[in-house]
Amino acid sequence: MNILNPYQLTGQWLRGSFHNHTTNSDGWFPLETVYKMYAEYDFLGISDHDKITDHRGNRTIKTVFDAIEVSSKQTHMLLVNPPRDLMENYSNAFTIENYQRHVDRAVDNGGFAVLVHPNRYFSNFWELEDMLKLERYIGIEVYNGDGNPEYDIAFDKWDAVLSSGRKVWGFGNDDSHVYGQEKRAWNMVMASENTPEAIIEAIKDGNFYVSTGYGFDAIRVEGDTVVADLRSNDLLDKMYKYVTFFGKNGEVLQESSGRIKQAKYECKGDEGYVRIAVYLEGGYSAFSQPLFVVK
Ligand SMILES: [Zn+2]
Ligand SMILES: [Zn+2]
Repeated sequence: MNILNPYQLTGQWLRGSFHNHTTNSDGWFPLETVYKMYAEYDFLGISDHDKITDHRGNRTIKTVFDAIEVSSKQTHMLLVNPPRDLMENYSNAFTIENYQRHVDRAVDNGGFAVLVHPNRYFSNFWELEDMLKLERYIGIEVYNGDGNPEYDIAFDKWDAVLSSGRKVWGFGNDDSHVYGQEKRAWNMVMASENTPEAIIEAIKDGNFYVSTGYGFDAIRVEGDTVVADLRSNDLLDKMYKYVTFFGKNGEVLQESSGRIKQAKYECKGDEGYVRIAVYLEGGYSAFSQPLFVVK
């Protein structure tokens, strides 16, 4: 059995979000205010609807990303590091061909594409069959900072796409438009250094996890066992955790709970993949990427 662990390379954990709005589209705040809202983040992407907003002015955030939210009436898709000439003859029309062209252009420019808020059922959602038709996108926004469990959580669609045999990573982003939506969901990226290149490389490798306030110190493989070292300190160690290991089709493989700082799952070989969700007392959570299990 071979367990593919995306968390092998070590470096520094960096915190950031790729999907946020300004007054350049329907956000309530100008870029300089958004920078201040996220002042302590390590990286930030600005992804206005159908526009690439220029980064300019003072900020404390070390790394910023050009991004755009391709926003047809039917579905939305985030492109990070799109080429500037994307805007020439730009169309947000939702056809697989047009969206695929946008994905390809971002990927070919060294960036990546993420299908965002796939379950926002009242508008702008993704049909599973379209998610399976589109190729080369790197991931799915499984946790959108609007945080409404009826439509901004998409673990079901992630498991469905993963179970179809695709390798896609899960993202957490605020999609912030107004005060109160900031710092609800983010990505913790294990990068060699805080540069755009190192962060994108780590994202492509899957060396990151989604957080809403809790986290992992490490995710390791020992033999056939997946080991999750939960974020630990004197205070956290006294608090209750609830850990679930999920496999193919979202099947619950194992649950562990208690005032624990580690959880383990021994693979049998037929899981397809194993991903880990942990909730800390109070509701703070973290969600790992899948570790693919190859027989
Ligand atoms: Zn959107
Ligand atoms: Zn958005």
